[in-house]
Amino acid sequence: MPHPLPDDLLTLPHRRDVPFPKLTTLGVGGLCRWLFEPATEAEAQRFVQACAREALPYRVLGGGSNLVIFGDVEVPVLRLAFPKTLRQDGPRLSAPASYGHIRLSQDAGRLGLSGLEYAAGIPGSTGGALRMNAGAYGTELVEVLDTFRFLTPDGDLIEKRPDPGEFGYRSSFLTGGHVALAYTVRLAPGDAGVIQAKVAENMGRRGTSQPLSRRNAGCIFKNPAGLSAGRLIDQAGLKGLRIGDAEVSPDHANFLINHGHATPEDFDALMEAVREKVRMFHGVELEPEVEIWRSPGSEG
Ligand SMILES: Cc1cc2nc3c(=O)[nH]c(=O)nc-3n(C[C@H](O)[C@H](O)[C@H](O)COP(=O)(O)OP(=O)(O)OC[C@H]3O[C@@H](n4cnc5c(N)ncnc54)[C@H](O)[C@@H]3O)c2cc1C
Repeated sequence: MPHPLPDDLLTLPHRRDVPFPKLTTLGVGGLCRWLFEPATEAEAQRFVQACAREALPYRVLGGGSNLVIFGDVEVPVLRLAFPKTLRQDGPRLSAPASYGHIRLSQDAGRLGLSGLEYAAGIPGSTGGALRMNAGAYGTELVEVLDTFRFLTPDGDLIEKRPDPGEFGYRSSFLTGGHVALAYTVRLAPGDAGVIQAKVAENMGRRGTSQPLSRRNAGCIFKNPAGLSAGRLIDQAGLKGLRIGDAEVSPDHANFLINHGHATPEDFDALMEAVREKVRMFHGVELEPEVEIWRSPGSEG
């Protein structure tokens, strides 16, 4: 642990030594040494302010569906445990960052509001979706985003509308200690039956194209400009490449799956093997789409 934790931080709800396989969809990683789970925005703000005051680095965790974790994480990890309450104001829905992203898509369908059908099948929290500007089928979250609330790395609470340049392809400015707290989406009233059918269709499409029966973290590598990472991996003959319990999915080459007991070392080696073989075969450098947490020594 690079810094002792200050006393006021320790008064916030927290747990010790939680295994990352319980906190992520991939199920790989060591221990989360300090997991802070504030139940209110005020508690989350106290967490960030205490860390800022002490110059203490920390990580923010949502549903853990876009993370690959190598080893133990010694710095405090913040995972919002806000009550999962949804508010509707006409075509606007407001959800805390702890709300499930798929659930929000389903709720919108039930309420006859269109615009979040794309999100059916994207796991994780709405906070993670905001940070990642999650998207599918040519639509992304920022397109329906009305306002959002977040903490700055100094612990200031800000509510605003999105400005140009703040959100990009699977990216946003909400990094480096920013914490998304909640957001409001502005949707279009429509026929609940039609919207729900689209939500179900999008869920079903994923069930046939993605290896959802195995633990995974979605697409592992970004699509290089104009290319498909999955196709490059497939063409390099890597489907089914296995190291320990980690395997390049035979169904979807950009999904690396955990057969149950994959270690961080298995995953690290498999990701590197895929990158090296794609580099040799195509001369293309693959960049991870997932976020990788390595510890100790590299927290940011
Ligand atoms: C089967 C499968 C399919 C997927 N399909 C898609 C897809 O089609 N499109 C797509 O875009 N993604 C997809 N993903 C990836 C993933 O679901 C999304 O990126 C998701 O939005 C991540 O949310 P999360 O809560 O799980 O974030 P996490 O994985 O917990 O974290 C991801 C990043 O967000 C940060 N973060 C999390 N919560 C907050 C917060 N409250 N404030 C600030 N930062 C935060 C973390 O620090 C980290 O940097 C898929 C994943 C899986 C497993």
